[in-house]
Amino acid sequence: AKQAGRGTFRVFDEATDIHLQSRQKMKAALRAALGLGELSVFYQPLIGLRDGRVTACEALMRWHRKGAGWITPDQFIPLAEEAGLIGDMGEWVLHEACAQAARWPDSVSVAVNLSPLQFHGGALVDQVATALRASGLPPERLQLEITESVLLDPTDRNIGVLQDLRALGTKIVMDDFGTGYSSLGYLRSFPFDKIKVDRSFIRDLPDAREALAILKAVAGLGRSLEMRTTVEGVETQAQLDCAIAEGVDEAQGYFFSRPLPAPGIASFISGCLPK
Ligand code: C2E
Ligand code: CA
Ligand code: CA
Ligand code: CA
Repeated sequence: AKQAGRGTFRVFDEATDIHLQSRQKMKAALRAALGLGELSVFYQPLIGLRDGRVTACEALMRWHRKGAGWITPDQFIPLAEEAGLIGDMGEWVLHEACAQAARWPDSVSVAVNLSPLQFHGGALVDQVATALRASGLPPERLQLEITESVLLDPTDRNIGVLQDLRALGTKIVMDDFGTGYSSLGYLRSFPFDKIKVDRSFIRDLPDAREALAILKAVAGLGRSLEMRTTVEGVETQAQLDCAIAEGVDEAQGYFFSRPLPAPGIASFISGCLPK
């Protein structure tokens, strides 16, 4: 029994070791990726539900790793955060996204995701200001998407950073709304410009009563607090119909378009312009 136990332990240990090694390797590859030009930004449109036009596009990072193909952010953002790379990668995305958006029509904004770790170290506000200046993009066309974890900081220092970002003229979006512990409470700590209802609620529409009730409540909240509302993850006409019925301002999802490389999104945008 003792033997078997030790054997089992050794197997487990080895597996952990391999896992660790591959994570270390992946981090090293990620560190090199930026310099090798393996990172790129895809864009997914947000559609205004009043007129069916593109209001904004969300910048979503992609990693084309040599020999491994496309790697999605769920696999590499956590690694980038662990490896201390998210600051540089985030700065790169800001520059890239602002430069692309400057070429789109004036009515189309760009939304960039910010990791909570980008709020550490005090460089973020300058990075955003620099990206805006370098691209010539008007600040009100840059939307910064944050999740509730940014507001978990007990010192409230991040609230100050959000205020500074707002003072630059950018729009602040609460992403993944409804997934945290205290979504409603966080709406009191900062006056967001927009709330994005998390995909998990949209997925269950139109059949789940609970999801529909939550969508209704968030849409009402948006109206009374003067925040725009967006739903993400819209894949079907029925889900879109729910959002329209509740008076949601914008929708995003595969129903309209998957995230596209820069040239693809530019054609998509012109296809939605009034003739
Ligand atoms: P997110 O900010 O919630 O972004 C939306 C995700 O939902 C994207 O996944 C998008 O491709 C996916 N999506 C959009 N429409 C649909 C749909 O109709 N159905 C389904 N099933 N999925 C849909 P993606 O691109 O894999 O990104 C995953 C997450 O990685 C993002 O979630 C965001 O948290 C993070 N991320 C992506 N790019 C960046 C970045 O540049 N910086 C940071 N800090 N995080 C990023
Ligand atoms: Ca987002
Ligand atoms: Ca989201
Ligand atoms: Ca998410």
